Amino acid sequence: MKTAYKERIARRLTWVTALIILVVFVLIYGVARLTVIQNIDRDLQLETEKHQDQIFLVNGEIRFLHKDEWEEMEHSQIQLNPIFIEIVDLEGNSMDRSPNLRENHLSFSPEKSRKNEAWTQKLGAQEVRQRQITLYNDGKPEGYLLLAKSFQDARELLDNLRNVLLIFYPMILVSLFLTMRYLAGKSIEPIQQIIAKTNQITQKNLNERISEPELNDEIGQLTRSINELLGRLEQSLKREKQFTSDASHELRTPLSVLRGTLEVLIRKSRTPDEYEQKIKTALGTIDRMSALIDQLLALARVESSKNLVKEELELITFLEELADQTANDQQREVSFQSLVTVPIYIKANEKTLQMILDNLLQNAIKYSEKTFPVILRTGKSEQGAFIEVVDSGKGIDQENLEQIFDPFFREKKAVDEGIPGSGLGLAIVKKLAQESGIQLSVQSNPGSGSVFRLDFPQS
Ligand code: ADP
Repeated sequence: MKTAYKERIARRLTWVTALIILVVFVLIYGVARLTVIQNIDRDLQLETEKHQDQIFLVNGEIRFLHKDEWEEMEHSQIQLNPIFIEIVDLEGNSMDRSPNLRENHLSFSPEKSRKNEAWTQKLGAQEVRQRQITLYNDGKPEGYLLLAKSFQDARELLDNLRNVLLIFYPMILVSLFLTMRYLAGKSIEPIQQIIAKTNQITQKNLNERISEPELNDEIGQLTRSINELLGRLEQSLKREKQFTSDASHELRTPLSVLRGTLEVLIRKSRTPDEYEQKIKTALGTIDRMSALIDQLLALARVESSKNLVKEELELITFLEELADQTANDQQREVSFQSLVTVPIYIKANEKTLQMILDNLLQNAIKYSEKTFPVILRTGKSEQGAFIEVVDSGKGIDQENLEQIFDPFFREKKAVDEGIPGSGLGLAIVKKLAQESGIQLSVQSNPGSGSVFRLDFPQS
């Protein structure tokens, strides 16, 4: 069954409060009962001490002194809280009793006098508190004095108190539940507004935001988090759209060139040399398109680090070989430098690292003069091992230092100078580094060169 959140909160709070109130009510009733009983018992104790001295022994019988005064008092005044007194012998046979007892007798139990405490019992139709003490004559037990006091008023008070508490208990709980449900409903109102607004936001109106409350409480934080999430989603959707349109544009341009070349070619018959030259141009365009498609695929295939197998790699040997191989392939001077003499071990996926460094080395070669060497450097900092790809080339303008990692971004001067490229190399490097937990940074001075640096996490 689906229960509203406010109902659940109200129900839980009511359960807890119900328990607390129950304990409080039981305590109130218990304390009231104890106080009333203690009061009556104290009175009984005083009466016992008083009447103990008014008993005397005649011819083996125990009697009250001034019994006639009692009888007289009984006839002349209405006693609101009468004391019932009875004297019994050791066997419990009644010897004398107060006139207000009439035909009734107080109950006798020898063991009660040993405990010296009062108890509640029935006397005719009413309830009384009774005490019992042993009477001694010359140190010898002669009988028992039984005293009782009405418990009727106390019982009435306690019953009234119990009834009031029993009637109020469910009433308090019901009103508590309703109040809590109302308050819980009020406090989750902002959440319902957030839900309603979030439900309205689709891909079409992703630029809309939930209005943020002034207070920086949990609701404010939740709203802000959702808005930030929407912001990130919007950005990534924009990037994706931009990427698709850039990719289509980059593919369409060589296709148009290819089409143009072929159209010109079939317009009239040509000499074999002309055919050869046009076909070579077309093949060059196809090669550039293939390279672009390879890079797009490489970008799409960058795997998350969870799927990458990382092995222990010794950087000095690995980089030395890479520098030699690149120098051979590209016919350029690539020098290797190690800032430490001991081997440097890292945990990395060799293929991924190779791909990152290939891209950086190719850029360093592409964007610097042939006469300047490219340096592949490694060392250890406080954070861990690092690799730097250093060139003394054109450098990158400060305002472009972040954008160069965006797909298809190329600096204007690179395009103007006709340096081949697609603008995807550094985007691939950034994604690969991110997925491998490698920190990528760049420092560059236009005119004097660039340093691309990879920092590896401590293994
Ligand atoms: P591409 O080299 O194919 O243009 P990249 O993504 O590798 O694409 O590089 C993006 C841009 O960053 C380049 O167009 C270039 O302007 C700039 N860039 C990258 N590396 C260097 C470098 N070593 N020196 C100068 N500029 C660079």
